[in-house]
Amino acid sequence: MKIYNSSTHKKEEFRPVEEGKVRMYVCGPTVYDNIHIGNARTFISFDVIRRWLIASGYEVTFAQNLTDVDDKIINRANEQGRTAKEVAEEFSKKFIDVMRRANVMDPDVRPRATKEIGPMIGMIKTLIEQGHAYAADNGDVYFSVRSDPSYGEVSGRKIDDLMVGARIEENEDKNDPLDFALWKAAKPGEPMWNSPWGKGRPGWHTECAAMVHRYLGCPIDIHGGGSDLAFPHHENECAQATCAWHQGFANTWMHTGMLLVDGEKMSKSLGNFFTLEEVLEKHSAAALRLLMLQTHYRSPLDFSWERLEGAENSLARIAGTVRNLKWAADHVEGQPDAELAAGLTSAMERAAAEYETCMNDDFNTAGAVAAYFQLVTEANTYLDQAAGAVDPEAARVCGAVIAGAFAQLGVELPVIEEPLPIGLLGVAAGLCAYTGDDVDEAAEKILAARAEARAAKNWEVADAIRDQLKDMGLMIEDTSAGSRIKHLAS
Ligand code: AMP
Ligand code: ZN
Repeated sequence: MKIYNSSTHKKEEFRPVEEGKVRMYVCGPTVYDNIHIGNARTFISFDVIRRWLIASGYEVTFAQNLTDVDDKIINRANEQGRTAKEVAEEFSKKFIDVMRRANVMDPDVRPRATKEIGPMIGMIKTLIEQGHAYAADNGDVYFSVRSDPSYGEVSGRKIDDLMVGARIEENEDKNDPLDFALWKAAKPGEPMWNSPWGKGRPGWHTECAAMVHRYLGCPIDIHGGGSDLAFPHHENECAQATCAWHQGFANTWMHTGMLLVDGEKMSKSLGNFFTLEEVLEKHSAAALRLLMLQTHYRSPLDFSWERLEGAENSLARIAGTVRNLKWAADHVEGQPDAELAAGLTSAMERAAAEYETCMNDDFNTAGAVAAYFQLVTEANTYLDQAAGAVDPEAARVCGAVIAGAFAQLGVELPVIEEPLPIGLLGVAAGLCAYTGDDVDEAAEKILAARAEARAAKNWEVADAIRDQLKDMGLMIEDTSAGSRIKHLAS
C-alpha cells in the first residue's frame, strides 16, 4: 500500500511502526457551531481511509479530539449569554450525531481538551525544563520555535521565510515573534485551570500533541487533517511532541484538499458554507459520500447542488442495477447461458482487482468507484443479453459484490422495493419472467411498469418496453377496457 506523505511530498510504501497495527490521529473540530460540508469532507475522507486500512487486515486505533475550549467558543458563549461549557457541550453532541448520520465511524478514542489539562501541563513543564519553552511575565507560556532544529519539516517551510511571509503578530511578551503560545493566562470570564504559571488555559496546538502521546504513543503511523492545518497547527504539534519526548511524532502526514464553492474555500468566515445537517436534510449521506469519493482526497473539490443531484442519480442507477440483478436471479427459469455468465464473472474479478489497486495507491477512491461504475454498465449489458438465460448465481453474486464494494466506502445503496420492473433492465428481467410459467403475472408487471413510466413521462423507458416486446414478437394493445399484451401477428 502506498500513501502520499505530505511532509516528504512523496508516495511512500506504508509500513506501520508495529506490524499489522495502525495508530492514527485526525484533528477534530472546534465545537462552537455546526460543522459544514467542507469539514465533513475531511472527516469522511479519513473515515474511508480508516475503513480501507481495516479491510486490508490492519488493527487500527483511531483517535480524534474535540477542541472544547478555544477563543471561538468563548466568543460564541459571550454573544449568546451562555457559558463556554454549554456551547461546547451542545456542539460536541451535534457533531457526534451528525457524523453518525454521515455514516462516519466513531473514533476508538475521543479525548476532550478540557479533560486533558493535566497531561498538557506535564508536557509544557517538560518543554520548559529542556529549554524549548519559557513562561512570560504576563502568565503565558511560549514555545521557542528556533530551539527546534526540525521546525518547518511538516509543512515544508523555512524559519527565515516565515519571518518575511507570514502574518505574525508582534507581541512584546514573546522572545521571538515566531514563538507560539502553549498556555494562555486567564482573562476574566474565561474558562481557566490552575497551573504552575498561574490560572489559564492551554493553546490549541498543545492539546493534539499531548493527546497523541497519551492515547496512541509516539510516533504514530498516520496524522491527518485538512490541508489548511498543515501550518501552523501540525507544524506546532510536531515541534512540541518531538522536543518533549524525542521519539518522533508522526511517520506519515496526510492532508485532504479543500472543499470549494465557486472556486473558493468553504469556510465559516466567508459565509459560503452549507452545514452538514442541512445537506443531509435534502440528500442522502450515501450521495454526499459518493460525490466526495469521486474526487481524490488530496484534490480540491468544487461543491454544487447540481453535482450532488448527479451523485444521487448515479446512486439510484447503481441501486436499480443491484435490484434488477436480484430480481432476475429470483425470477429466471430458463436455461442459464454459461458463456455470458462467465463473462459477467470475469467482469466482477476485473472490478475487484482494479478497486484494490486503486485503493492501495494512496486511497484513489475516484478510480475505485469508476471500476464499479464500469461493472454496473457490464451487469446491465449482461441482463439485456442474457434475458431468458440469466444465471441466477452469477446475477445474485454480482448484485452483492456491487453493493458490498460501495458499502466498503460507507456508501449504503438505497433499497428499491421489489419487484416492479421499471427501467430498461427491469423490462429485460420482466421479459425473462414472461417466458416462464406465470405469464399473466409477468404481463401484468410489464404493463404496470409501462403505465408507471408513461405517468412519469419517462418516454425512454416506455419506448424501450414497447421495442423489447416487439423484439419478442409481442405488442401492447391499449383498449378502452385497459391494456393487454398480444402477439404481433394476431
Ligand atoms: P476546524 O474545526 O476549523 O479545525 O476544522 C475541522 C477540520 O475541517 C480540519 O481538519 C480542517 O482542515 C477541515 N476543513 C475546514 N474547512 C475545510 C474545507 N473547506 N474543506 C475541507 N476541509 C476543511
Ligand atoms: Zn490537531
